[in-house]
Order: sequence, then structure tokens, then C-alpha cells
Amino acid sequence: MASPFDLRGKVAIVTGGNGGIGLGMTRGLADAGADIAIVGRNQAKSDTVAADMMARGVRAVAVTADVTDKDAVTAMIARVGDAFGRIDILINNAGINIRKPPQALELDEWSEVIETNLTSAFLCSKAAYPALKAAGGGKIINIGSMMSIFGASFAPAYAASKGGIVQFTRACACAWAVDNIQVNAILPGWIDTDLTRTARQQVDGLHERVLARTPAARWGEIGDFAGIAVFLSSAASDFLTGTAIPVDGGYSVSA
Ligand code: NDP
Repeated sequence: MASPFDLRGKVAIVTGGNGGIGLGMTRGLADAGADIAIVGRNQAKSDTVAADMMARGVRAVAVTADVTDKDAVTAMIARVGDAFGRIDILINNAGINIRKPPQALELDEWSEVIETNLTSAFLCSKAAYPALKAAGGGKIINIGSMMSIFGASFAPAYAASKGGIVQFTRACACAWAVDNIQVNAILPGWIDTDLTRTARQQVDGLHERVLARTPAARWGEIGDFAGIAVFLSSAASDFLTGTAIPVDGGYSVSA
């Protein structure tokens, strides 16, 4: 019997797939057999990851695009369609943070975070929808955060974007169930990446506070996202839509 986690013959787009959590998910999808489009602004980083994916035995393309730019997103989707002939899976993972309290955050900083973390998911999902529908169904995975649930004094725009991404996930799940497109969110806990390396430099005591609150007693690793990405991309999750799943070592259920 075929494995319900088998992704051979499927085509996945991972925004921000050239580093951090996106790279962890990209590796998981490739190991399950999916062909991969890696989307980021840094072409050299994306090329390196595409070569790594091809070495794992799947087809891969690196597509340079700023996911806040509507025209670039349209061109990116067209490029992936041309390269592989179909699109089955979209992971909206690209994200940034600007850490300041609300009273110090400038409007352009607010907009940059909202556009990168939230508007990009709208642009990519809308642009990918016709191809997912034409494929007979598909999967969209949006990346939230613990700040989809909790607040933080230093992350007003980030928390707003990550709360918004959960509601956007639910709206798309309702709209596109009829097209056999499942839309879910992953809420990572505290994961060791470039993003949080900066946070640990900027926020006093963060490293220790995370360790103390996380029942698993460690920071997450990018490899922790391979399994959940495969599950939410595969037939194993065909009746699961509109959810937001914490992958956090228990952080969100710990007092
Ligand atoms: P990284 O900084 O390691 O990676 C971010 C990725 O996003 C890079 O690959 C970057 O590629 C890409 N990216 C950023 N802006 C754009 C843009 N405008 N257009 C295209 N690509 C872009 O971050 P993480 O791996 O830590 O974070 C990934 C996601 O997970 C984010 O949404 C983040 O908010 C979320 N998250 C992370 C947590 C953590 O603890 N690390 C916790 C909770 C959520 P390039 O430089 O080539 O543009």
C-alpha cells in the first residue's frame, strides 16, 4: 500500500526555503519525494539549497522574488508552473521581525513587517490558487508563531501579522475546501535560526526564559519542521483544514 505521506509527483513552493525553518521544511518535502521551488531574495543562498535538493533525487528550482511585490509573485508562480507543469503545495514561510515597543515603531517598519509576514501570504496564495485548483486540489501551509497566541512588548507588528495569518488561514480554508485545497498554519515555538539569533542579542535573558518555559527543555531545530510539513502537505491530512498547530516543545501549554 502507498504511504499517505508520499509526495512523489507533487510540486511544492517554499517561500524563504533557502534558510532557517523554511530549509528544514524543504528538506522534509524533498525527502518525501516532492519537487521543490525555493523562493527568496538571495539567489546564491537559494541556488545552494536547490543543488542540495537535487542531490536528494528531486527536481528543484531557485526563484528569486520579493514576496511583498505583487508582480514578482505573479512571475514566480508562472516560473514554477513553466518549470514543473503543476503546483500542489505552497508554504508561506518568509518572515521578518523588527523588535521595538509600539511607541518606537515607525509606520514604514510596521508596514514592512505586515507586508512580509501577512500580505505576502495573501499575494502568494491568490496567485497560486488557479494552479492548485487545476491540479485537482492542494495544500497551503502558513507559518505563524507563538505570537499568533501571545503578545510581546517588543513585537507589535510581528504579533499583529502572526495573529492575522491564523485568521487568513481560516478564511482560505473555508473558501477553498470546495476546491479540495486544505489550508493550515504551523505555529513554531522558539527555534534556533538567524531570526532568533538576532533576538537573543537584542532581548536580555530571552535564551534562558525560553529554556525555562519549554517543557522539552531545548530550543527547536529546523529539522523539527520536516515531519509537520510533510504531514500537512500529504494525503495524510486531507480532512484537516483551518487549523493552527503549535510545534513548540510544549511552550504554548506551559504556565
Ligand atoms: P530566517 O531569518 O532564518 O529566514 C527567513 C527567510 O525568509 C529567509 O529564507 C529569507 O530569504 C526569506 N525572506 C524574508 N523576507 C523575504 C521577502 N521579502 N521575500 C522573499 N523571501 C524573504 O527566519 P526563520 O527561519 O526563523 O523564520 C521563518 C518563518 O518562521 C518566519 O515566518 C518567522 O516569522 C517564523 N517563525 C520563526 C520562529 C523562530 O523561532 N525562528 C518562531 C516563530 C515563527 P532571503 O534572505 O533570500 O530573502
